[in-house]
Amino acid sequence: MSEPVAPSTRPTMESVVSLCRRRGFIFQSSEIYGGINGFWDYGPLGTALKRNLKQAWWSDVVERELIGPDGNAVDIVGVDCTIIMNPKTWIASGHVGGFNDPMVDCRESKARYRADHLVVIGRTAPDARLFAFLESDDDAKAKAIKTLCKYERIDSPDPASHTMRLFTTLSETDRARCVGPDASAPGSLTEPRQFSLMFKTNVGAIESDDSSAYLRPETAQGIFTNFWNVVDTSRVKVPFGIAQIGKAFRNEVTPRNFTFRSREFEQMEIEFFIRPESAPEWYRWWRDERFRWWQSIGLGSGNLILREHDRDELAHYAKEGAGTSDIEYRFPFTAPGFGELEGIAHRADFDLKAHATHCGKGEKLRYFDQERNERYFPHVIEPSAGADRGTLALLCEAYTPDPARASGVYMKFHPRMAPIKAAVYPLVNKEGMPEMAEGIYRSLRKKHAVEFDEKQSIGKRYARMDEAGTPFCFTVDGDSLSSGTVTVRHRDTLAQERIAADQVGSWLDDKLDSTA
Ligand code: ATP
Repeated sequence: MSEPVAPSTRPTMESVVSLCRRRGFIFQSSEIYGGINGFWDYGPLGTALKRNLKQAWWSDVVERELIGPDGNAVDIVGVDCTIIMNPKTWIASGHVGGFNDPMVDCRESKARYRADHLVVIGRTAPDARLFAFLESDDDAKAKAIKTLCKYERIDSPDPASHTMRLFTTLSETDRARCVGPDASAPGSLTEPRQFSLMFKTNVGAIESDDSSAYLRPETAQGIFTNFWNVVDTSRVKVPFGIAQIGKAFRNEVTPRNFTFRSREFEQMEIEFFIRPESAPEWYRWWRDERFRWWQSIGLGSGNLILREHDRDELAHYAKEGAGTSDIEYRFPFTAPGFGELEGIAHRADFDLKAHATHCGKGEKLRYFDQERNERYFPHVIEPSAGADRGTLALLCEAYTPDPARASGVYMKFHPRMAPIKAAVYPLVNKEGMPEMAEGIYRSLRKKHAVEFDEKQSIGKRYARMDEAGTPFCFTVDGDSLSSGTVTVRHRDTLAQERIAADQVGSWLDDKLDSTA
């Protein structure tokens, strides 16, 4: 058995990114033109991995039976809404005018930074120079410290007089003596300004203010605006949920950390509608259920945490409610800290009320509870997850260095997530072995994503499957034809066993079912 990977032996981000590129998990978008910052494409293995993640989410949330805190089956239906919506949606939701990050432009380098991510180091004296860097970028921090030391002709900063401060706390005169992360002279950074994260476009032939529209920055609003359609056309009753998986777009100021902060990404969101008084109970249930789910698909190690927000961190709609928490993963670039995979928030009745008001129908849109003969706006618990961040966490968690293997590394995906479930190989390309292996491959392929390959040495083929994270390899060898058996190679333990060739299908079904 291989040992669990200790935090200190966890992969660097460079090694994960390099494997993703080399094996076709993730590429830069439009790479042949030099790429485009904040946009990523998935190659064959990455597409299969991300599809498995989204499929598992949909199946576990919408299709399978879940028992809620009230002892009843949880009722959830799906929708698939458009990316461009009536722009009034974004006024009601608070995104126009509110969905802003304060940002800072550098007049010298033309770079743009999130103001709340910028930190400066330097002395407080009015003639001293300050050097800015992005808080999560260790290289930039080291560069800022080096430039400071060179400028002041010292060997290292003195913790007593060289303090670190947030850029947002600087006065105008402080800003004038601050050198930007990518600049050489002081005073090039502007004051923090609001910047809309929404991508704007035009609908129709004529470009005017009237034809302006936005690419959705979250999938949730399509769910809220369809709440009344779903209630009128299906048999749902509160408590129930609506789920959606789809693309969202945010013109992030500083896209970084591979796919973690992209400008185009996919969300998997549930809006769960409940009676206001049951919000605390449902909030806690969803928080725990979602944490359990991420663990069930292979993030069960100590790298996943559930973090309840502090009161002053809560969004405007959640202040009075049951709370907000994040499910966070320790990515190589956040370690020893964590980065958000999913947020679970009690949004109260903020969204439904806002849409009811902005569309002009107001109180008439209150939900009618037939059993109680009562009208109200339901409260909402929102578990909102990112499919790209989830896929990235699966990749980082699976990456297992192993110097004993030809590939030097294997991807320990949970079998349910593995892009390829099994490979079928003839040991050598002769003596009836390829024909027998191909027969097994054809029968497995009816149900599973499997691979057949007769080229190269068996060692090289195993190495390819180790890097792809394929949990099982079936090999037809010299004895297979006479004995009617094949060997199974287990990815994680490298153990081999012989099983009957005509049982390979049911053997694989059992293995995949028992881990589902
Ligand atoms: P952050 O604070 O990291 O910007 P957020 O709190 O704004 O994230 P939400 O608005 O709660 O994120 O979005 C829900 C989920 O969508 C996040 O948990 C994350 O998985 C995903 N997500 C949000 N922004 C991005 C992005 N720029 N790139 C990739 N995934 C994202």
